[in-house]
Amino acid sequence: MRLSKYYIPTIKEDPADAEVVSHKLLLRAGMIRKLTSGIYNYLPLGLRSINKVAKIVREEMDRAGAMEISMPMVQPADLWVETGRWDYYGKELLRLKDRHGRDYCLGPTHEEVITDLIRGEISSYKQLPINLYQIQNKFRDEIRPRFGLMRGREFIMKDAYSFDKDEEGAEASYWGMFEAYKAAFTRIGLRFKPVQADSGAIGGDFSHEFMVLADTGEDTIASCKSCEFGANLEKARVKLPEAKPEPDESNVPALEDVATPGAHTVDEVCNFLSISADKLVKTLLLTIDGKPVAALVRGDRELNEVKLRNIVGGNEIEMADEAMVREITGAPVGFAGPAGLNKDISIFADRELCMSTDWVAGANKGDTHVRHLALGRDCTIERYADLRVIEPTDACPECGKPIEFTKGIEVGHVFKLGTKYSESMDATFLDENGKSKHMVMGCYGIGVSRIVASAIEQNHDENGCIFPPSIAPFEVVLISLGGKDQDVADKAEQLYTEITNLGVEVAYDDRKERPGVKFAEADLIGYPMQLVLGGKGLKNGIIEAKCRKSGEKIELPLDGFTEAFTSWRAEVWEKWGLNL
Ligand code: ATP
Ligand code: MG
Repeated sequence: MRLSKYYIPTIKEDPADAEVVSHKLLLRAGMIRKLTSGIYNYLPLGLRSINKVAKIVREEMDRAGAMEISMPMVQPADLWVETGRWDYYGKELLRLKDRHGRDYCLGPTHEEVITDLIRGEISSYKQLPINLYQIQNKFRDEIRPRFGLMRGREFIMKDAYSFDKDEEGAEASYWGMFEAYKAAFTRIGLRFKPVQADSGAIGGDFSHEFMVLADTGEDTIASCKSCEFGANLEKARVKLPEAKPEPDESNVPALEDVATPGAHTVDEVCNFLSISADKLVKTLLLTIDGKPVAALVRGDRELNEVKLRNIVGGNEIEMADEAMVREITGAPVGFAGPAGLNKDISIFADRELCMSTDWVAGANKGDTHVRHLALGRDCTIERYADLRVIEPTDACPECGKPIEFTKGIEVGHVFKLGTKYSESMDATFLDENGKSKHMVMGCYGIGVSRIVASAIEQNHDENGCIFPPSIAPFEVVLISLGGKDQDVADKAEQLYTEITNLGVEVAYDDRKERPGVKFAEADLIGYPMQLVLGGKGLKNGIIEAKCRKSGEKIELPLDGFTEAFTSWRAEVWEKWGLNL
């Protein structure tokens, strides 16, 4: 490809509305352009990179036995009503009507469509398992579309769906996809980690997110410095310290009210009473699908709502509003406590609260707290369970060694769905004994366009992108510094042909630009390999070769160029930990 004839509208200055580096660089390198909030045009270079990601993903899906299909983006509402998600999915679902007034949505994901397809096609265990995937535009009306390709409203996803006849089969399908994801992300050249994620009602170890490790990531991962453990914060179990005996409550003085005028928050109460936050029980009132529950955690801890919801059961979890707090506690917000709550409400307590007694808590009266609370004596706890968010000072829940928090970008998600959709949509098959059963499903997503952004988040410097060779829009840029020197131009032409004939994608900078401009753009776009031919080099029989990742420059001989280039190319791939 000749840059003199190619469309790469680079921008010198950082665009004002781009916050993260990948967004800035994708715009500056002329790879994407915004149409409207969260919706982008992919320009030639950007699309090349996206297509390369898609190709690797496709190859790994095919290798794992999944088959590519393409499902419509416009989906009839009826299917979503069947699964209950027409209401449940909320505002991220973009809804539209046709000329007859019938409801549709733009697909944010395709469980409904695929289950509808399969229930019409598959009727016998002999046709299972089956795993189908597509690579396609998705639409989600994200509340905060931002960061360019990182969180768009329209974006490209690979989504796969597996159908099995039993749990065992579904688990094999799950781990098959897990391995395929590892293979794909490794080939792309990303530094990544699969982490445990919440699998909701399914339970077990059957949801993993694949995180690209980057400081700019929106997600926080708890991972062990010594073992393989990694989990997102929603999921991460908290390890209790070595078991202590149940606290002896017999010596705890009687419950006593203390006036705490104006002290609502944990900090205010602790300051007022001169105690540390770990002496206080924090009482949180929430609703799960409209039904109120109370959750207790130590004053210095944070409730993990996902853990609470999984223990109680249900879907939608929300903090109780002011009116409900008054109804449950008989007091204004800020004074709830477990002793003397409205009897109808179940109280769930974090396990850590078993480790001690004689607490301070809200008194369910305005401007009042209680001292000397003994949970066993003064209230009825429905259940003690792991309810809090893990903290960096916690020990690894698997091996007990120190953990650390790191930032990550979710680029993939594997999930065992079980029979959630096959039951609600009645996707059944006849088993070996002629008995009708629901298929056991899994779903598996990869953010194809997000991967391009996250590769840049992970690999860039002050001059621009540093693309892994596997997904660079072009692997090599060949810069001709001939100016009016026809010999240089002729030689560059010849090298361009030679490299192209090797099957290597090369951007040939044959433009009449100043060298400085050519170098700056080559760095900005981030071609992994740069070749620079000038008059002096030609005279000395060499061409300069620069690896964008390491910055290393070497000279390749023009005589025997093909061999020298081929071995240098292999070295550059190796620097990325990649095989050619
Ligand atoms: P997130 O928590 O980031 O919103 P999600 O849990 O909604 O992601 P999934 O439904 O599992 O995502 O979708 C599969 C993959 O699609 C994600 O792992 C991510 O890489 C990608 N993805 C999801 N939402 C977006 C988006 N708005 N823009 C770009 N990629 C996205
Ligand atoms: Mg999302």
